[in-house]
This record gives sequence, C-alpha cells and structure tokens, in this order.
Amino acid sequence: MRKRLGALAALSLLAACQSVPYTNRSRVVLISATEEKKLGEQAYADVLKKGKVSGDRANVDMLRQVGRRLSKVADKPDFAWEFNLLEDDKQINAFCLPGGKVAFYTGILPVTATETGAAVVMSHEIAHALARHGAERMSQGMVAQTGGQLLGAVLGGGQGAAASSKLYEQLYGLGAGLVVLSYSRAQESEADHIGLILMQKAGYDMEEAVAFWGRMTKATEGKRSNGPLDKFLSTHPASQERQDQIKKWIPEVKAQFPKPPSP
Ligand SMILES: [Zn+2]
Repeated sequence: MRKRLGALAALSLLAACQSVPYTNRSRVVLISATEEKKLGEQAYADVLKKGKVSGDRANVDMLRQVGRRLSKVADKPDFAWEFNLLEDDKQINAFCLPGGKVAFYTGILPVTATETGAAVVMSHEIAHALARHGAERMSQGMVAQTGGQLLGAVLGGGQGAAASSKLYEQLYGLGAGLVVLSYSRAQESEADHIGLILMQKAGYDMEEAVAFWGRMTKATEGKRSNGPLDKFLSTHPASQERQDQIKKWIPEVKAQFPKPPSP
C-alpha cells in the first residue's frame, strides 16, 4: 500500500503535459528525455550486438547520406546520431530510437528502392523519436497496466533499469518473439506529417512518400496474412487513407516550409 502511494505521488509529480513539435498536440509523458535517451542507447547497443551489422558500403553510405541530411534539419543537438544497416532480408522494417539511433534492415531496401524512398522511411521513424512517441506509449502503459510498478523500475536504477531497458526493447518490437506494442493510429499519422516536414526541410521530394506507400500496398496485395511484411504492416498499414492524407499535407507543408536550395 505504501509502495503504491509512493508511486502515485511520483506519478503526479512527474506528470508533465508536453506538446509535440510541429503539430503542438499535447499529451502526458512520464519519462524524462534524458532517461528515455539512455534507454534508447542501451536498446540500440543490444540490437547491434545481437544482429549482423551490414558491411554493404554502397547502401550504408546511402543511408548515412540520408541520415546526415535529415538529422541536420531535425534540430536535436542533444542527439548523438547513428545510422546502421542490419542484415536481415526477412525484416521489412526500420526504426529510430530516442537519442538518434537509427537502423534499417536490409529487407526494407527493395521497397524503399531509392535514396528518396529511404528518406521517406527514415524521416517517418525520426519523427516518432522527435515526437517522443515511445515515451508516450510507455507512459500510457505505465498508467493503464502496471501503475507505479514500471515507473519504479525506470526511476529505481540497478535491476530496475535493466527491466525498463527490456521493456523498451519490447515496446519497439526489437526482441525476437516479443510482443510488438505498436504506435497508435494518431501517432502513426503524426509521424507521417512530421516526416514530410523533415523531408521538405532537407530538400527531398515529398511526393515520394505517396509513391512509397503505393509500392507498399502493391507489395502486400494478397500477402496480408503471412510473410515478412507482416511486422511492418501491422504497425504501418499501407492504406489508401494514409496516401490520401499525405497528398493533402504536401501542399500545406510546401507553403509552410519553402524548399531550401539543394544540398
Ligand atoms: Zn511509424
């Protein structure tokens, strides 16, 4: 009982209503940005250690070039950006963890197809990190499922820190066979929107986002129930609605952020 009261006090103490950059949507995040970055860095080191980092020079260089352009406009001087390619043709996926830790799996490269296609995916993933969607999901999970227990783990350090790091990997679906806690629909949509803004600011053609989701739809026709696309698709539905919304945003973003000269 006392433990629970303590946790509740901590919850209310930390409950910070913050707003998302660009969209200004306000939400509650219970984890500090510093703590979140630390968890992201731990999870990233773990994933790189367990996975196979690709030595495919051409594609690694391409991803780092995209990363250089997008991170320049992301305006996060506190992030130590890293961009890696992981060898796994079955994983049609990519992610950006807090702290600017980006990885692509080789399986997504045939769908991204070009540098601009890779920029569509990377800008979307970076947007999730900028908007702190992981911390928001974690905070919702803390409140809804486990109350103060997880918060205690995050704040506690030691064994608690290890537990929260594990939770983080689960949250991002990084561990094999773990439950994937997907982003909400609203977060997905928000990442599409902010991703377009980053593309525009970095001088990439936003129209490629429509083309990319078109390719995803095509690649997944008739394959909805099985296969390697499931993981990315379960969290990123390639719907017509998604493409329509992107088409609507493009002229707005163009008006709001006039295109910089080509880098
Ligand atoms: Zn997403």
